[in-house]
Amino acid sequence: MSLLTTQDITMKFGGLTAVNEVSMSIQPGQIHALIGPNGAGKSTLINVISGFYRPTSGKILLNEQEIQGKKSSTLSHLGISRTFQNLRLFKNLTVLDNLLIGLHNEIGNSFVSSMFRTPSHHKAEKQAKEIAEHLLHEVGLWTLRDMQTKSLPYGKQKWLEVARGLISKPKLLLLDEPAAGLNPTESDELEQFVRKLPEQGVTVLLIEHDMRLVMRLAEEITVINFGKKIANGTPQEIQNDATVIEAYLGKGRKHA
Ligand code: ADP
Ligand code: MG
Repeated sequence: MSLLTTQDITMKFGGLTAVNEVSMSIQPGQIHALIGPNGAGKSTLINVISGFYRPTSGKILLNEQEIQGKKSSTLSHLGISRTFQNLRLFKNLTVLDNLLIGLHNEIGNSFVSSMFRTPSHHKAEKQAKEIAEHLLHEVGLWTLRDMQTKSLPYGKQKWLEVARGLISKPKLLLLDEPAAGLNPTESDELEQFVRKLPEQGVTVLLIEHDMRLVMRLAEEITVINFGKKIANGTPQEIQNDATVIEAYLGKGRKHA
């Protein structure tokens, strides 16, 4: 059974069809890449799956339950989390506070604030801190936890964005160009980190520019172009797909 399936998802902005009847399935425990040229509709699809946009039409199933149109906070509670291509961090807060706030936002008011109002307030807060501290160690931000986020180098801010995506302990993490702007060492570290997510129970949908990274990490790849799915298969199948080479891979392999 697929963890997540989109069925003919379409997202229109006025006269522009950003995502056009895209059907795809993400298997549990998989690293699934979503690639395609700039403007292909990749981020829009993530925005729809994570509840930031309500699709114009189509269905999304999480463990066979329809979830299209649900709010992002509800979806977070159901186990879907995402990072933003353009980081959404609170620049004046510390690294640690960004994670703790992420936990409040992601899990949603109904859940956390009701939890925080109960007598177990302190326990919940302590648990949140423990999760945050564990993640800070994992992504190499522990020693920087009290720094103001805006004073972090860009690469570290990218890591914080990834950590924030994981704070709600998602089943499905949608990563929107996590390696963009990272130097080669940071990109290697990210690769190692993402590779280990499935064994920790996190299935990954990865949008990424860096084709080397995609081909090494992904078990399955879906390619979209002008909002339409043009191919789906293993990295090897995608690399040899004439339509994909024509639309995308042939053009210098630079843009995603
Ligand atoms: P990608 O992530 O593949 O580069 P996007 O999903 O960001 O592509 O964009 C797909 C298309 O949808 C682009 O033409 C973009 O300008 C348009 N688009 C994305 N978001 C919006 C929006 N909120 N309003 C209007 N147009 C949008
Ligand atoms: Mg994008």
